[in-house]
Amino acid sequence: MPELPEVEVTRRSFADRIAGAQVRALSLGKPLRWPLGCEPSTLAGRQVRSVARRGKYLLVHLDEGVLLLHLGMSGSLQFAPSLPPRGVHDHFELLTSHGVLRLHDPRRFGAVVYAPSMDDARVLKLLGGLGVEPLEIGFDAVSFHRALKLRRSAIKQVLLAGDIVVGVGNIYASEALFMSGIHPAVRADRLSKPRAARLHAAIVSVLQRAVALGGSTLRDFSSAEGQSGYFQLDAMVYGREGLPCRVCETSVKAMRQGQRSTFFCPVCQKK
Ligand SMILES: [Zn+2]
Repeated sequence: MPELPEVEVTRRSFADRIAGAQVRALSLGKPLRWPLGCEPSTLAGRQVRSVARRGKYLLVHLDEGVLLLHLGMSGSLQFAPSLPPRGVHDHFELLTSHGVLRLHDPRRFGAVVYAPSMDDARVLKLLGGLGVEPLEIGFDAVSFHRALKLRRSAIKQVLLAGDIVVGVGNIYASEALFMSGIHPAVRADRLSKPRAARLHAAIVSVLQRAVALGGSTLRDFSSAEGQSGYFQLDAMVYGREGLPCRVCETSVKAMRQGQRSTFFCPVCQKK
């Protein structure tokens, strides 16, 4: 599943190239997660201003209105001056004067939604509950600790919920908890200020590193379906159940939290 770093790397891969382009046509394949919300032909002639990201949504800002794109479980975006004819899994295409933006999404959990403005009810519904951006200035250790104090669930679950800090998915939550020596089952409200600060630093570091790595390996993860992300190549705990911890050589353990697997070292990570 594409996580925040993959979405950010995807954004960087085409944002500059599509900016200023004029929309010629928008075409859709099979239904995605939600309907587009407008007649595709009404977008012809509009100009692409910029491409931003909020959580795992890409926001293609037009001179009038905005397109929200989500990659779902298996989606990937391609932008090129021209592309071969659309295949069976290509369910969205934006033809512009600078090239073609295409969404390839075999499982169709992805989405493309149009809204006339950022104040629109559809935008608020999708983006309104999102926490702060982990790679932006609003994410600081003090307010992170304060927010954790109000939660009694396991820290790993709180990170995945995305309403305190957005985009820390399963892989990166496991890795950040390892880096900060925190057991994934610790109650969020029991984390001391220094431990919360270490976790904050680890989240920023693991995501920044993933974005930096992703820049050179975009193709690897955009063709990967789900599990074989580039980042796992040097993961400390994620996907390493039964293998020796890279720090203390104890066997890495896995457990279920919610519906997801969590990987951790029982020695390096304390309750
Ligand atoms: Zn260890």
